Formats: sequence, structure tokens, C-alpha cells
Amino acid sequence: MQLDMPTALLFTAMVSLVNAAAMSLLALRDRSLYLRDWAISFALIVVGLAVIGLRGIVPPLASIFFGNALAALGAAGIFAGLCRFMQRPVPWVFLGVIIGVSLAAIGWFSVGVDDPAAQLGRRVMVFSALIALLSAPCVWLIVSHARREGTVLSVMALVAELLLVGLSLLRVAVNAVAPAQGGLESDHTREVLFVMAFGLTHLLQGYGLVSLHVSQLLRRVAAQANTDALTGLPNRRTFEDTWRRMVQRADRDKSPLALMVMDIDHFKRVNDTHGHAAGDEALRVLGWALKNHLRPGDLCARLGGEEFVLAMPGATPAVARMRAEELLKMPLMYGEDGGGEPLAVTLSVGLTDWRASDTAPHATIARADAALYEAKRDGRHRVSVAA
Ligand code: GH3
Ligand code: MG
Ligand code: MG
Repeated sequence: MQLDMPTALLFTAMVSLVNAAAMSLLALRDRSLYLRDWAISFALIVVGLAVIGLRGIVPPLASIFFGNALAALGAAGIFAGLCRFMQRPVPWVFLGVIIGVSLAAIGWFSVGVDDPAAQLGRRVMVFSALIALLSAPCVWLIVSHARREGTVLSVMALVAELLLVGLSLLRVAVNAVAPAQGGLESDHTREVLFVMAFGLTHLLQGYGLVSLHVSQLLRRVAAQANTDALTGLPNRRTFEDTWRRMVQRADRDKSPLALMVMDIDHFKRVNDTHGHAAGDEALRVLGWALKNHLRPGDLCARLGGEEFVLAMPGATPAVARMRAEELLKMPLMYGEDGGGEPLAVTLSVGLTDWRASDTAPHATIARADAALYEAKRDGRHRVSVAA
């Protein structure tokens, strides 16, 4: 089979068309701006490649200029969408300047140079350099996001952008040494292979961008599943996972691990007297106060209802007791009564520490709960330490 340039351009355009369709379908369901950017960008690339491939039907100069311009705008749009995805400002000036300069250069190499045989090679070099310049910041965005978050959101997207940079630079280098000659209809096996390779890389890029989108959705859902919506504190599930790891570490390092369970006193009365919204506000105030009371390595969570837990790795019983007393002194004002007097809640605290004999999963927390029950029975707003 003879591989000619129009066939290669058609193949790459078809891949971009599939990408544009996939992004459009995703954008219909999820109205994120970056999906719309990517859908439009891939569509621009399709039209750009078609305009290049239809040279002859489209007048040559218009085919060169508009084809390259549309494909360049598409590549720029993918980068702009990635900026938006990463919640970074889109560097419009940078994009405007490099696209403007590249198109001026492509225009110049279409009409202005003396050696017509070298024109195609020079245009290919300029366009490839432009793709490298637009793909390199995509690599940077993905890597800097990974540094911040401690994990690469999509290895596929990173590989696709690296391949685009690599392929573009290779194409620049090859055309610098041996420029592509003649028109599109000439025999350009090397350039045809480049265009096909770009097509395959676009396929990977499409998968990569979709996987970025899906990874981010999954992370958002996971964060919601681990967080208590009212207070923003970790929930019971997160507490239980983290507590298991804290116990393993305390056991291995033979270091102390304290645990306190807190419960708002007479909370039912708050709801009954001042309404459920006032009760919710009291919970939010307590959540906020606890967050401000945390030390590095501590874990505080809402176990459910008006019951909270604080795990303190490294805290000896004496330190834990001191911190519990501090917590009891925190003002927990959640509103005012009809006469302008502040409304506040108090806490009772049950305190214990992890012991090597706590082999049952909930042994420590059950002991802290028993101590909390003692604190309630002894008059509330106090700390009780488990025996
Ligand atoms: P004690 O001092 O013995 O702990 O008494 P209490 O009234 O605090 O305890 P009780 O278990 O009788 O009542 C807890 C109340 O907490 C009952 C429930 O309606 C309320 N509650 C649980 N979750 C929420 C919530 O998310 N918002 C509000 N506003 N109230 C809640
Ligand atoms: Mg209570
Ligand atoms: Mg309770």
C-alpha cells in the first residue's frame, strides 16, 4: 500500500475527530470549561488538517496559511484547556505571540524565500517548533501539579505530551539537516510517517486528557466520601483507616498514642430550644475550634452526631490530659439568645491511650467511650481518664 500525505493527514484528522466527539460528549454532561476547550481544539485541528490535505481544491496559499493557523490554534487550545483544568491562568499573551510569530514565519516561507524547493521543509520546521513550544508547557503543568499533589494525575497524558515534544523536536532536527522538498504530492515517506506518528500521539493525548478528567472526578468523590460535609473534618471511615496506621506505628516505634472522644453536653436541648440550624452551627463551631487546636500528626474526626474523636500520636497520658483540659476551656459560642446573651455548648471528654492488649479493632475507642460515659455521669463538662 502506498502511504501518501493526504492519507496520513486524513488518518490524523479522523483521530482528532474522534477526540473532538469524545470531548463534546463529556462536555455535554459536565459543563467544565476545559472540556469545551478541548472539544473545540480537536475540531480546529480536524479542519486545519483537512484544509492542508485538500491543497489543490483549496488554493495553495490559503491551504498553507489557514491549515497551519487552525491546527496551531487547536494545539494552543489544548494547552489553554489544560491551564483551566489545573486552575491556572491561561497565558494569552504568550500564546498570541508564539502563534503570531509562527504564522508570520510560515507565511514568509510560503512566498518570501528565494529557494522554493526548501519552503516545505522550513514551514514544517516552524510548525513543529510551535507544537513543541505548546506541548512543553503541558508537560510542565502536569509535572508541577504532580509535585504539588504527590502523584501524577494521568501518566498517559504526561507520556502523550512528552511524545509530542519529542516528535516535534525530532522533526525540526531532521528537517534542519535534510529539508522536505517539493509539494504535498511529492514522495515524502519520512514526513508521512511523522504525520501518522502525530496521529497516534493524538490518540494517546485524547485518552490522556479523558483520564485526567476522570482521575480528578474520582479524587473529588473520594475526598467527599472521606469528609464530613457539615464540619469539613474527616469522617468515621477516614478515622478508622488512619487510626489503624497510627496503631501500627505506635506498636513498631513503642511510642505513646492517646485518644480522646468528645461529646457535646445536652445537645438535644440545643436543637429542641433553638432549632436544628442552631444545633448545626454549634457543630460547625466545634469543628472549627478542633481544627485550630490540632498539632502536626494529630487526627480529628466527627464520628457521627455530636461525637468527635481526637487521636494524638506521641502524646503521653499527662500531655493528653493537659490538651483535653485546654479543649474544655475553648469558648464554643454558636449564637445569641433573644436577650443578646451568647449561647455556648460545653463538652465532655473520655480519654485513654492505645495499649498493646488492644487487639480487638475497637478496643481503645470503646474504653474512651466508657470514660466519656463516666464524665457525663459525674456532671458533664469534664475529662475522665480510663483506668
Ligand atoms: P448528653 O449530654 O448526655 O450527651 O446529652 P445529649 O442531649 O447531647 O445527647 P443525646 O444523644 O440525647 O442527643 C444528641 C442529639 O444530637 C440528638 C440529635 O438530634 C442531635 N444531632 C445528631 N446529629 C446532628 C446534626 O447533624 N445536627 C443537629 N442539629 N443535631 C444533631
Ligand atoms: Mg451529647
Ligand atoms: Mg452523643
